[in-house]
Amino acid sequence: MAKAVYPGSFDPVHYGHLDVIKRAAKMFDELTVGVLDNNRKSPLFSVDERVKMLNELLKDIPNVKVESFGGLLVDYCASKDVQVVVRGLRAITDFDYELQNAQTNSLLSKGKLDTVFLTTSLDYSYLSSSAVKEIAYFDGDISICVPPVIEDMVKEKYCNMKGK
Ligand code: ADP
Repeated sequence: MAKAVYPGSFDPVHYGHLDVIKRAAKMFDELTVGVLDNNRKSPLFSVDERVKMLNELLKDIPNVKVESFGGLLVDYCASKDVQVVVRGLRAITDFDYELQNAQTNSLLSKGKLDTVFLTTSLDYSYLSSSAVKEIAYFDGDISICVPPVIEDMVKEKYCNMKGK
């Protein structure tokens, strides 16, 4: 059985992530979306909130499951007996960082863990979670970036933070 993990912060998940997940789900028998539980990144949403968002959006894709994980990606993948990591590539600016991570993970896993890159669809190449947060913070329209349920959650989060 071909298994893969798509790890990320997903803070919040947007259409670019969902596109990668749907395409990867067609390539692997089982795809686990691994939500990184890393408080050093000071996320807008807690890891439980991010897992819940993804579960809601992916509930109709039977071979995709969502989990949180902490610690090293290589250890998480080894614990699940997964040898393939999926990552998305938007522009050349992603390349250095992603190449370095892929090579480090290969080294740490003694060559057992490989990384597969899916290039972004043109429609979503501009999209990042940081941009979504920046636009939403200043009350801009994020409906082209995220599904309605996420739009509501992001707006609510900023309303609460700003005490509106
Ligand atoms: P991380 O903090 O691990 O970079 P992100 O949630 O920002 O987590 O991204 C997770 C993965 O999704 C990364 O591989 C990233 O390159 C990819 N990704 C992010 N935005 C897009 C997009 N618009 N199109 C395709 N892939 C994307």
